[in-house]
Amino acid sequence: MSDDEFTQPVYHEEDTNPDYIADKTVAVLGYGSQGHAHAQNLHESGVDVVVGLREDSASRAAAKEDGLRVATPVEAAAEADVVSVLVPDTVQPAVYAAIEDELEAGNTLQFAHGFNIHYGQIEPKDGIDVTMVAPKSPGHIVRRTYESGEGTPGLVAVYQDETGEAKEEALAYASAIGCARAGVIQTSFKEETETDLFGEQAVLCGGVTSLVKQGYEVLVDAGYSPEMAYFEVLNELKLIVDLMYEGGLGEMWDSVSDTAEFGGLTRGDVVVDEGARENMEEVLEQVQNGEFAQEWITENQANRPRFNQLHERERNHEIEEVGERLRELFEWAEEETEDEQERAE
Ligand code: NAD
Ligand code: MG
Ligand code: MG
Ligand code: MG
Ligand code: MG
Repeated sequence: MSDDEFTQPVYHEEDTNPDYIADKTVAVLGYGSQGHAHAQNLHESGVDVVVGLREDSASRAAAKEDGLRVATPVEAAAEADVVSVLVPDTVQPAVYAAIEDELEAGNTLQFAHGFNIHYGQIEPKDGIDVTMVAPKSPGHIVRRTYESGEGTPGLVAVYQDETGEAKEEALAYASAIGCARAGVIQTSFKEETETDLFGEQAVLCGGVTSLVKQGYEVLVDAGYSPEMAYFEVLNELKLIVDLMYEGGLGEMWDSVSDTAEFGGLTRGDVVVDEGARENMEEVLEQVQNGEFAQEWITENQANRPRFNQLHERERNHEIEEVGERLRELFEWAEEETEDEQERAE
């Protein structure tokens, strides 16, 4: 499929103009997963970067060690033309309230996820541009692929375009952090937010962990050993996902045995059946109508009672104990992953 067969425009290096960011100062608020990657990539692309962190932030030392200028979020925003908001989504409204007065006409407020804008938790002032550049991978991959010259795909969206140059500037930013090397897909704050929440709830984080836990419980309840259950429903998942990542469903089906392919094709829809699909549609509806967002906002206001309880329960599932013991048998694999992560950071 060539680019003009995509349903959305996809931008590459040649569609971006570095002049839109070259002479600007970018304030990167936060130095976590995305923040450290954006700040360092922008800096190495020749853009003037100032990292905005609280006086008592543990990340200050890291940002300085990486050769970056550090200021408070308010100071950084005051100085900047573009303010990239890369603190956790739940603290963004408070951070925005603190820096709002520093945003001058024609400045840009930029996000990597649309939650707060889309659900009205941040109502950006008039007279500024509001954009999104969202790499479709964790920060350490954004950083690693920038260094290796590859880049990760990203999304671009414009919510408010005061200057008439919001999209050009966002594309220049996307290029400076390496995303345009792989391709930048046009979207909207609404679409990015709703698909991101649905994906992580129904499939990536929620759906997959429920499949794993219930598959494990069914096997163990039927008398099979926890070790066997762990390997079959959790450990081997990585091999399957790696194949799908590389070559889609087809490469995965081609790589497993014909028995696995026939069994999977005939039994998959029995497990994740019409009822599960209806449940997925309900999950999507709660994302679309703001019910989920409101629940999460209220949960945070109440200091996360339900979150903490569920978090604890998940950590105490039997599969976690079994897994911890079994993973000691192949510590080399973990060390390799840690090495990889360290090299990336
Ligand atoms: P993170 O939790 O990794 O980092 C948060 C950073 O913000 C830390 O440096 C922390 O010190 C700082 N911080 C925390 N509270 C602060 C405060 N009150 N004031 C100032 N700084 C504060 O965050 P992240 O995962 O990089 O997420 C940042 C944004 O990127 C979010 O909008 C998220 O949805 C989006 N995003 C994340 C990923 C990802 O893979 N992590 C991918 C795409 C988009
Ligand atoms: Mg400013
Ligand atoms: Mg998400
Ligand atoms: Mg996502
Ligand atoms: Mg098997």
